[in-house]
Amino acid sequence: MDTTDIAIIGQGPAGLSAAIYTARAGIKTTVLGCDPKVAGNYDIDNYFGFPDSITGKELIELGCSHAAKFGADLRCEKVLGIYHNDQGGFDIKTDKKKVSSKAIILATGVSRVRPGIKNISEYEGRGISYCVSCDGFFFKGKKVFVLGEGIFAANQALELKNYTSDVKICTQGKKEKITESYAELLKNEHIEILSQKVVELKGDNFLQQAVLSDGNVMDVDGIFIAMGEASSTDFAYALGITTRGVFIEADYDQKTNIPGVFAAGDCVGRFLQISVAVGEGAIAAHSAIAYLKEKKAAENQG
Ligand SMILES: Cc1cc2nc3c(=O)[nH]c(=O)nc-3n(C[C@H](O)[C@H](O)[C@H](O)COP(=O)(O)OP(=O)(O)OC[C@H]3O[C@@H](n4cnc5c(N)ncnc54)[C@H](O)[C@@H]3O)c2cc1C
Repeated sequence: MDTTDIAIIGQGPAGLSAAIYTARAGIKTTVLGCDPKVAGNYDIDNYFGFPDSITGKELIELGCSHAAKFGADLRCEKVLGIYHNDQGGFDIKTDKKKVSSKAIILATGVSRVRPGIKNISEYEGRGISYCVSCDGFFFKGKKVFVLGEGIFAANQALELKNYTSDVKICTQGKKEKITESYAELLKNEHIEILSQKVVELKGDNFLQQAVLSDGNVMDVDGIFIAMGEASSTDFAYALGITTRGVFIEADYDQKTNIPGVFAAGDCVGRFLQISVAVGEGAIAAHSAIAYLKEKKAAENQG
């Protein structure tokens, strides 16, 4: 397992800004994440210092080279889960490896992806869930689907096997993109992969059936949406971080209620703008640096 002092989850403006501060302070910094939404060819007209505008892609490229210049290790890896470890730090599972860190800055933006099922809103909280760690328990012994493709969905399906044996993945018509080792894990756990789309939901008050694009109707008690990537709320639940809907609760210093975990940018849900994300990233880094110093001093005394 790799080790680092601070792991920053998210390579958008908040994460990169935090990395510039922590790496420049000489702290071993690992940034996990890729393809920030802002990094398209969108013109950013309102960010300080760029009167002729700059594209999101250019801004992120500059941010990456700035953080790398101070020694931050930028890795294009998707985080699947974060857990407390026995050393008072955190173990992070990515789609490529495991990283152990003393502190964490969550800078994941907001990325809940809703599938285009016509009556999905009627069943949200009544069989439709976006978080296995939060709601898997309520589906003990029931029939469940995971909607999505790729390693995030595969991982969610495997986690659901802790609660029920009847788990299927529905890729919503997309081609499944998992590694051979994950395909093997799914096969060993008897998790079937459906390539049709769920187009409509049925049930009196609570989800009972899913109508598929080929006209088949299947009995199902719960559908877990795992499109896109694991969100900060998934991590929050596993770590015991207080949330406000899909947002992380962070105080004035970007501290969450869990010592050693800080949050910045859109995932905190204040004013969803680059300037705010960059500012909060700097504050989160400042707080994380102080936390690591205090932790080290306490360890030296003990
Ligand atoms: C089309 C568009 C145009 C915009 N235009 C403007 C504008 O003109 N001006 C302005 O100020 N703001 C604009 N915004 C808003 C701005 O992009 C956001 O406020 C800003 O990007 C937030 O930064 P962030 O770092 O908090 O999150 P993001 O930029 O969303 O970055 C989050 C990062 O976390 C990563 N991530 C998430 N989950 C995981 C995971 N499980 N593992 C690894 N990585 C993960 C994501 O892939 C991404 O890299 C625009 C947004 C969009 C979508």
